[in-house]
Amino acid sequence: MKKLLPTSTAGSLPKPSWLAEPEKLWSPWKLEGRELISGQQDALRIALQAQQLAGIDIVSDGEQTRQHFVTTFIEHLDGVDFKKRKTVKIRDRYDASVPSVVGPVSRQKPVFVEAAKFLRQQTDQPIKWALPGPMTMIDTLYDDHYKSREKLAWEFAKILNQEARELEAAGVDIIQFDEPAFNVFFDEVNEWGIAALERAIEGLKCETAVHICYGYGIKANTDWKKTLGSEWRQYESVFPKLQASNIDIISLECHNARVPMELIELIRGKKVMVGAIDVASNTIETPEQVAETIRKALQFVDADKLYPCTNCGMAPLSREVANAKLKALNAGADIVRAELQAG
Ligand SMILES: [Zn+2]
Repeated sequence: MKKLLPTSTAGSLPKPSWLAEPEKLWSPWKLEGRELISGQQDALRIALQAQQLAGIDIVSDGEQTRQHFVTTFIEHLDGVDFKKRKTVKIRDRYDASVPSVVGPVSRQKPVFVEAAKFLRQQTDQPIKWALPGPMTMIDTLYDDHYKSREKLAWEFAKILNQEARELEAAGVDIIQFDEPAFNVFFDEVNEWGIAALERAIEGLKCETAVHICYGYGIKANTDWKKTLGSEWRQYESVFPKLQASNIDIISLECHNARVPMELIELIRGKKVMVGAIDVASNTIETPEQVAETIRKALQFVDADKLYPCTNCGMAPLSREVANAKLKALNAGADIVRAELQAG
């Protein structure tokens, strides 16, 4: 990116009410078949326009083709039985009824490649596409086949790599892997989680990112955050190994999070997507608040490597709130760009 402080979102944006019930996760589609595909394309255009009107530099599809950031990808794979459900604790936090792995997992055909091509046709701006990370995928399933979290993650990494290579060929500039599980299972992250992620990006020439957050602004997550104490140092356990990894960009939750900003020093040299927008609150940040978060991060990230972003996806928010937050993000980045240029 030549532009200083290029803005982007962590991923999802609200869906139109005619596509899926808004302000809800896992909201069922209101259309089916060909109508659903064309509805998703229309929704993608609206999500893209919202980003463009707000001045966002690196745009995405707003995840308009996904009911959920993990399960929609898994739905397209062989080896997973969605009728055989078990209740598991997701990220050690909340119970959810999840599908079972019943045989070898594989991808028979591309999952998001057509949608990515469609997005590519709509804009010349840099585009970012999000995929679930291997560790977060296994954490959203009951494994009745491999009986090994590491083995299953490795199989998913191979599948993600197939998808990522095709997304790259479709013209995606940045492929992002969402790994909120990296904030929970520190030992596994260091033992095999980052290695699995590197398997997923093997051979890619486009840029790669990993998004590690404290989750959507849903109750289970906000309740969990209350138990984390006055300083959230989770990132500290995984940053050293991430710093040494092949991943180009690390996307983090910062604004209104109790994450000590100086932890970012541990990934010095990486590009950092700094979360300057709180997705768990309807309060719209002021441009000055956004600027303040960016200024703080600039103490630990070189200006040419800092990418202002949202803390996480905004799917559960209203469109009005999400659009206003996008505008605040860019307005805040503008303030700091002017300061750096005057500098
Ligand atoms: Zn997130």
